[in-house]
Amino acid sequence: MPVTVAPDLQAIVDRIAAEMAGREERGKVADYIPGLARVDPKHFGIAVATHDGRMFAAGDADAAFSIQSVSKVFALTIALGKVGDALWKRVGREPSGNAFNSIVQLEAEQGIPRNPFINAGAIVVSDVVLAGHAPKEAIGEILRFVRDLAGDDGIVIDDEVAQGEADTGFRNAALANYMRSFGNIHHPVDQVLGVYFHQCALAMSCRQLARAGRFLMHEGQHPDTGFNIVSPMRARRINALMMLCGHYDGSGEFAFRVGIPGKSGVGGGILCVVPGIASIAVWSPGLNERGNSTLGSLALERLAAATGWSVFNQREPG
Ligand code: GLU
Repeated sequence: MPVTVAPDLQAIVDRIAAEMAGREERGKVADYIPGLARVDPKHFGIAVATHDGRMFAAGDADAAFSIQSVSKVFALTIALGKVGDALWKRVGREPSGNAFNSIVQLEAEQGIPRNPFINAGAIVVSDVVLAGHAPKEAIGEILRFVRDLAGDDGIVIDDEVAQGEADTGFRNAALANYMRSFGNIHHPVDQVLGVYFHQCALAMSCRQLARAGRFLMHEGQHPDTGFNIVSPMRARRINALMMLCGHYDGSGEFAFRVGIPGKSGVGGGILCVVPGIASIAVWSPGLNERGNSTLGSLALERLAAATGWSVFNQREPG
C-alpha cells in the first residue's frame, strides 16, 4: 500500500502503548548481570522522531534503560569516521546466521568477524575507536558523540552495568583474545573490552535514543546543526547493515514482520530508522528466544502496519 496520507502518529503510538500494557506474554528479562536482571518486565516505551522535527511518544518513553548492543550503531559510525572503508578489511558485512557471541565462525574465517553488530565485530570496532586514545578518552568520545546526536547532555553510562559486563564477560574476552591471535585486535585486550563494556552500558530513554538515531533518517546529516555526521552513502550502508544484521539470529524474521532497519539490544531496546521519514526507539525488557525485545518487536510490527513504513512498500515520490 503506497503511503500518501500522513498518519495520526500520536493516536497510533498511544494505541500501541495501550495494547502492550495489556499483554501478558513479555518474554524473559536478561539476567546475566544484576543491573539488567532487576529491571521490571512491565515497562514499555515508544518514541518516534519524525523528519520534520516532531516527536511522538507514549508509555515509559522517558525512562532510561541499558541500550546494550544498540550502541554498536554509534560505535560503528565513529569507527567509520576514523578509518573509513578500511574498516571493511577487518570486519565483514554479511549476516552471521550464528549466535551473536559465537566463536566457531571466527575460526573458519581467520579472525575476521562477519559483521560489526555481532560481538566479535563490535569488539574490533572498539579497537578502532580506541586507536590513539587512552580507554577513558575513547569512552568519553562515544558518550559525547551520543549526547551530541541526541542534543542531550543528560545521557550517562551506568557504571554498575559496565562493571557487571566486565565481571561476566568471559566469552567476550575469549573472542577478543582469539582475534588478537589473528592480528585483528591491535590494542591490549583489557583496554578494548573496557571500551566495549562501557559503550554497552550507555543508559538512554526511548526519546533520547530516537533523537540520537535521527542522522540516519536524514541522509547522515545532524538535523539540529546541518553538519554531516556521515555521508549519505554511509548512512544508507549503516541502515542496510541494521536491516541485515541488527537482530542477531532473528534479523530475517524482523525484516519479514516489520521491514524497517533496526538494531536491538539485550536491555530490550530497539532503534529503527525509516529513511527520510522517522527514527524510532522502543523499549520493553522482556526478550524472545532470539534475544530481541518481545513487545518491542510486536510494537514495531504494529507501527509498520499502521503507517505503511516498511521500506519494502512502494512510496509516492516527494
Ligand atoms: N553486553 C552484551 C555482551 O556483549 C551485549 C549484549 C547485547 O545487547 O547483544 O554480551
